[in-house]
Amino acid sequence: MAKKTHSSPFPRVTLSSVTLSFEQPHPSPARGGNPIHTEQTIEQPIEFTGIGLHSGAPVRMRLVPAPAGSGIVFRRTDLDNFEIAATGRNVARVSYATSLMRQGVLISTTEHLLSALIGLAIDNLIIEVDNLELPILDGSALPYVCAIRSVGLRPQRRRREYLRILHPVEVREGDKFIGVYPGTGYSIDYAIDFPPPIGRDRFTLDLATETYGAEIAPARTFGYKADEQRLRDMGLIRGAGPECAILVTATGIENGPLRFPNEFVRHKVLDLIGDLALAGRRIEGRVVAERAGHAMHTALVRRLLADRSAWELAAHRTH
Ligand SMILES: [Zn+2]
Repeated sequence: MAKKTHSSPFPRVTLSSVTLSFEQPHPSPARGGNPIHTEQTIEQPIEFTGIGLHSGAPVRMRLVPAPAGSGIVFRRTDLDNFEIAATGRNVARVSYATSLMRQGVLISTTEHLLSALIGLAIDNLIIEVDNLELPILDGSALPYVCAIRSVGLRPQRRRREYLRILHPVEVREGDKFIGVYPGTGYSIDYAIDFPPPIGRDRFTLDLATETYGAEIAPARTFGYKADEQRLRDMGLIRGAGPECAILVTATGIENGPLRFPNEFVRHKVLDLIGDLALAGRRIEGRVVAERAGHAMHTALVRRLLADRSAWELAAHRTH
């Protein structure tokens, strides 16, 4: 079957076409009234094209508005529109990126898009992809944020339910740690400790203050040049290049400048938000992570969802 030509009326986004604007915090993510505590989708479809970071496979992706209550659902258009919901029960093997799998069908590297959807408070969306991995674009969530803001958000009538944390849930593995605790809003405290030149760093964020687009979305993924061949030998990072990741050498950055002096820890926060999106609802609570990664993030989601006493689904609390 011939592939469709680019005759669609929807905005198409490639890295060269999207305007990456480094914005100030955005006080009002949607038009009209106070829609923040009702569900939202996007106003109209958006198309992205690119390649997968690990597969190197070309992919066309289309974000499509979805009805209230339907959640975030991936759809493999190359496999008879097979659907995989973005929930913890579909998390597959996780090492260098987060993947979802259902009945043997895979969707890979979901974290940056899901992070943008939480950051912009989008509850309902169909994500059509014609290959197994999402496009890496520039390695951040900024192309998603800019494109979604350019079409706008559509408030929906249903009240958003949050996953409110009622008691702590923690995962520890050696010197890696992640935990989630009761708290108002959604706050994150992330500490990293990487080999030089990144070293130790720490970043705290209160997502409720609508800082995502300015503080987190632009932070790009990164990799050490010293690990490159080993990862390629494992069949990973086939789509990697200086346009989609920060390349870290023993002494500095090969493809600078950085977008933030602490871009690395900010990207870890970006990944964490995207991985915790697999809890299925925006979290109301406080997350603490130390030296964690995709495996720890998704382990927390699984432990949290399995402990039904640790949370409740609840409308926003007014104070
Ligand atoms: Zn990432």
